[in-house]
Amino acid sequence: MSGGPTIPQKRNLVTAIPGPLSQERHERKKAFVSDGVGTTLPVYVEAAGGGILVDVDGNALIDLGSGIAVTTVGNAAERVVARAAEQLAAFTHTCFTVTPYDGYVDVAQKLAELTPGEHAKKSALFNSGAEAVENAIKIARHATGRDAVIVFDHAYHGRTNLTMAMTAKQMPYKHGFGPFAGEVYRAPMSYPVRDGLTGAEAAARAIDVIASQVGADQVAAIIVEPIQGEGGFVVPAPGFLPALAAYAAENGIVFIADEIQSGFCRTGAWFAVDFEGVVPDMITTAKGIAGGLPLSAVTGRAELMDSVHAGGLGGTYAGNPVACAGALGAIEEMETGDLAARATAIGALMERRLRALREEFDVIADIRGRGAMLAIELCKPGTLEPDPLRTNAVAAHCHQQGVVVLTAGTWGNVFRFLPPLSISDELLEEAFDVIAEAFAATA
Ligand code: PMP
Repeated sequence: MSGGPTIPQKRNLVTAIPGPLSQERHERKKAFVSDGVGTTLPVYVEAAGGGILVDVDGNALIDLGSGIAVTTVGNAAERVVARAAEQLAAFTHTCFTVTPYDGYVDVAQKLAELTPGEHAKKSALFNSGAEAVENAIKIARHATGRDAVIVFDHAYHGRTNLTMAMTAKQMPYKHGFGPFAGEVYRAPMSYPVRDGLTGAEAAARAIDVIASQVGADQVAAIIVEPIQGEGGFVVPAPGFLPALAAYAAENGIVFIADEIQSGFCRTGAWFAVDFEGVVPDMITTAKGIAGGLPLSAVTGRAELMDSVHAGGLGGTYAGNPVACAGALGAIEEMETGDLAARATAIGALMERRLRALREEFDVIADIRGRGAMLAIELCKPGTLEPDPLRTNAVAAHCHQQGVVVLTAGTWGNVFRFLPPLSISDELLEEAFDVIAEAFAATA
């Protein structure tokens, strides 16, 4: 069965979820794949496209997760497949740092054009988000000659040793995996529904921690997700990001926006920082950049990026030519299809449905996010006490009904909605009908 944009756009359940063939596959998974690699929903996918995932039992499920914000342009999107296939047939690998190729430089040029700011920019490409974050920190330390890195409460930056240290949530990301890398300091995040602070107040609180507990002149980088991903789509109060960026500039600190989850049209703009006119010194991207192929990037001020000696950055597969071709296809799709506008429209539809849900179910304490990156936080009615049990119950109901939803948040009490931007309004409405039923069924 082939996927992509031509796949029938209809939810269709022909077995219970997971079906018998998926269950068989899952037994095999349990035999041969580490239990440390978890599974949200054990349906084994055979094809995907538009807003649909088709499993081995023939069930068609609605996708509200995009493989965690990756298939923004849709699964097996035509331009991604065409360009990657052409590249596959030409050559699969040379190692860019041995004998280079155009695709890598084309992606770097696109990143220079699309990321915020008019200054000269350069990029280095990698494979995963965590690898991009690690390299951004390497570059910031090398350029400043300083060690300390400032991260925030609820942050997620990856699963490698340094990025585990930078990630906030203990279980499952850090549990038993220490000791962690040093010189990582955590500052309080702006979390409007919980702290009630303005952006300026929340920034002052964070800056006080940095100044009094770390020392501005010790800090190489402040790294922040402009909308926190795994943390539950926490959108800082307006003014928080600009105040941090200004503080960084005044103190010779590299200000890094981790846009790995929020970037590439997801929020209704190319990057989430665009909404506040913030120009980061460096930006990390991955996920949506390449339509499902593994690629990540660090893009930053040319003088920062060039401060590293030749050979200091790289990796065998970093900026693989097939992944680069996929990225060029994905970016072309975003530009020609004006996917930022589509993300805004999807966001408006989802927000309407979520507001109606909140009228009916007082367990929804907050609706937040931007564009096609929206979340709801579930708390015991009338309180801010997290309700992860209800969250899991609603998720299980949605999964049984063929709607793939993802949870998030430090307390596991957030639903995050990340549909592919290729999904139809009809499928979205149907998915939210199912979500409403799930809230009613678990009340
Ligand atoms: N940073 C952010 C903001 C992310 O959302 C993620 C992935 N969830 C990462 C870094 C790590 O990316 P990867 O899983 O590709 O290593």
